Amino acid sequence: MRGALGGPRVLLRRLREVMAEQVSAQDRLDKIVVLIAANMVAEVCSVYVLRVDQTLELYATEGLNRDAVHLTVMRVDEGLVGHVAREAESLALSDAHNHPEFSYRPETGEEIYNSFLGVPILRAGNTLGVLVVQNRARRTYTEEEIEALQTTAMVLAEMIASGELTALAKPGAEPAVRRPLHLKGVVLADGLGLGHVVLHEPRIKVTNVIADDVVKETARLDAAIGKLRHSIDLMLEDDGLAKAGEHRDILEAYRMFAHDRGWMHKMREAVLSGLTAEGAVERVQSDTRARMMRASDPYLRERLHDLDDLANRLLRELIGRARGTEREALPENAILVARNMSPAALLDYDRSRIRGLVLEEGGTTSHVTIVARALGIAAVGQVENAAGLADPGDPMIVDGQAGEVHLRPPGDVEEAYAEKVRFRARRQAQYAALRTRPSVTKDGVHIELHLNAGLLVDLPHVAETGAAGIGLFRTELQFMIASAFPRISEQLKLYRAVLDAAGERPVTFRTLDIGGDKVLPYMRTVEEENPALGWRAIRLGLDRPGLLRSQLRALLRAGAGRDLRIMFPMVAAVEEFDRARAIVERELTHLRKHGHGLPEKVYVGAMVEVPSLLFQLDEILSRADFLSVGSNDLVQFLYAADRSNVRVADRFDPLSPPALRAFRLVAEAGQRHGKPVTLCGELASRPLEAVALAALGFRALSVSPAAIGPVKAMMLELDVSAARKVLLPLLEDKSGMADPRAALSVFAKASGLPL
Ligand code: PEP
Ligand code: MG
Repeated sequence: MRGALGGPRVLLRRLREVMAEQVSAQDRLDKIVVLIAANMVAEVCSVYVLRVDQTLELYATEGLNRDAVHLTVMRVDEGLVGHVAREAESLALSDAHNHPEFSYRPETGEEIYNSFLGVPILRAGNTLGVLVVQNRARRTYTEEEIEALQTTAMVLAEMIASGELTALAKPGAEPAVRRPLHLKGVVLADGLGLGHVVLHEPRIKVTNVIADDVVKETARLDAAIGKLRHSIDLMLEDDGLAKAGEHRDILEAYRMFAHDRGWMHKMREAVLSGLTAEGAVERVQSDTRARMMRASDPYLRERLHDLDDLANRLLRELIGRARGTEREALPENAILVARNMSPAALLDYDRSRIRGLVLEEGGTTSHVTIVARALGIAAVGQVENAAGLADPGDPMIVDGQAGEVHLRPPGDVEEAYAEKVRFRARRQAQYAALRTRPSVTKDGVHIELHLNAGLLVDLPHVAETGAAGIGLFRTELQFMIASAFPRISEQLKLYRAVLDAAGERPVTFRTLDIGGDKVLPYMRTVEEENPALGWRAIRLGLDRPGLLRSQLRALLRAGAGRDLRIMFPMVAAVEEFDRARAIVERELTHLRKHGHGLPEKVYVGAMVEVPSLLFQLDEILSRADFLSVGSNDLVQFLYAADRSNVRVADRFDPLSPPALRAFRLVAEAGQRHGKPVTLCGELASRPLEAVALAALGFRALSVSPAAIGPVKAMMLELDVSAARKVLLPLLEDKSGMADPRAALSVFAKASGLPL
């Protein structure tokens, strides 16, 4: 006789009874394998569980030698069971012995079985174990049988995930479901955070996977799909699309998936096999996840996120829960884990409870990163599948120094980090003690340290760090976290608050730097092939002078009675600077005419971010009151390496001769013209890089708030003339082999500089 006996639905019903019985975990597993074997008309049914050491242990069997249970252990790169675990994909063979990966285990007595069907036990796309049936006769397992076994594996997944089996394990060989994970990513914001996982987009927990009534579940699924499609259509029609922070192309992709017949068909099939509608959505999504996670194609991975999100939306429709209602009680010591997050969403959380941020995406210069830095939250990005692997409440350590994350860390790792946190606290106390010390090098050179800011939350840093001023105030951040264009009155309020917080210290406001990677969700922009080279920053400001004028008006009014410093981003030609400066003059005239108070003095500067300006330094310096090097952009354009593309962003070292020669040109031109020149890119925030900049002649740097302490501690020990002697000859070297980073590192070490 062939085929499932009584069908999968009968099996699921029986399984539910077994799950409800008050028996030991082992007895329950033993009963389950007997039921499955009988239902699938197989001589053998076995459950292998993936352990923390990444081996597979036989936990239960019907048909193989029972003495092998808890004794047979194999690696994931071994045998057919290992293949299923590794590939997270079903494997059906009518002649298993002839498969190249067949491996023989004498203790199990399995050599007499010819046919093999193994399915992965999956949860959120992660393999927890393998469920196998075997037959003596050569048989071809049907699609329906494979489906049925996959559905059954869901019940086992829940059982393993519940932790019930941990009691059966030897210490150190527990099921891998809750195993400690060491995940690598990239540094977004420095710091160490110890705490517990909070999922920014909580997964809907499906607790009931076995259906009572298939007809009812099919109707529920169909109704939920209908509602999902309708809600996507509404979002697409909605003009206020931007308010929801959604992008049209993503929604278009959602609409396509929501009408995808394959997706629908798979879920209906899963319901027909006896799952609830929720169970079916989860089952199909878990399979898709497992399959797509193995894909290296970034496009496919991106689609996986879309499908995850869509599946979550569908579950919400089924469970009848509105989006975001789960996000209420934030525990103490929360570590936020998300695929990605908008800066506004991060600011919505209670900062005092957040210890860390982990993103599956997130670039080092993305805006959520800038906000995390401003808030002093340790953050790591590009952590693959972080939100899929972590469960709410899991202990987690965010290492924003190394760009690593420890999920469910073992005790010794946790203790080591607790010590590191204490060490950092001591270091912070030392930096705090330097707060009022002027930043003067050992050989008496004053290097002013200003800070980079852009939000209200940054303002306390001015006093806390003892910075000489705000060297770069990124005004676009206020625009980026708003849901509509901030009114002049709102801008005025922020700029006044900034000047008040700075007191006597100078503040350099940069006018709106939007476009490129800085998008305003509520502003319609034209699709551009190369947005970084496109209609952005001062280009946009000059073409849409209304926006620039209103911002300048707010700035000039905020600066009434004090000195005001304004600078323009992305100046590529002096003529742009002239036009922008003329707008400042016109606004001043306008304000004067209307009897408004005016700033005592207005200094107007330009950012050096576009290489063309390197070859117009005399021209720009005869017009501008000061210059500030935006090294993030200057390096990106100098090397033609997209700063937000992780594949190339760190490919070229800014401490290499070409970049250093470019910086030197600016520093020396400033000296020639007697005009102040500073550098405000991320570069200056790193102590070794700051040594190089001081050696090149920069006498003011603008750095992130957390960097003031470390950079100042280094400056106090630095002998600038000695650093010049090391660095400058390397810039004359024509061999192409000069390595300024290495030379400066040796110098720093020999001079005992705290790096
Ligand atoms: C820069 O480009 O270095 C800079 C400071 O500007 P932003 O990072 O805001 O583009
Ligand atoms: Mg820039």
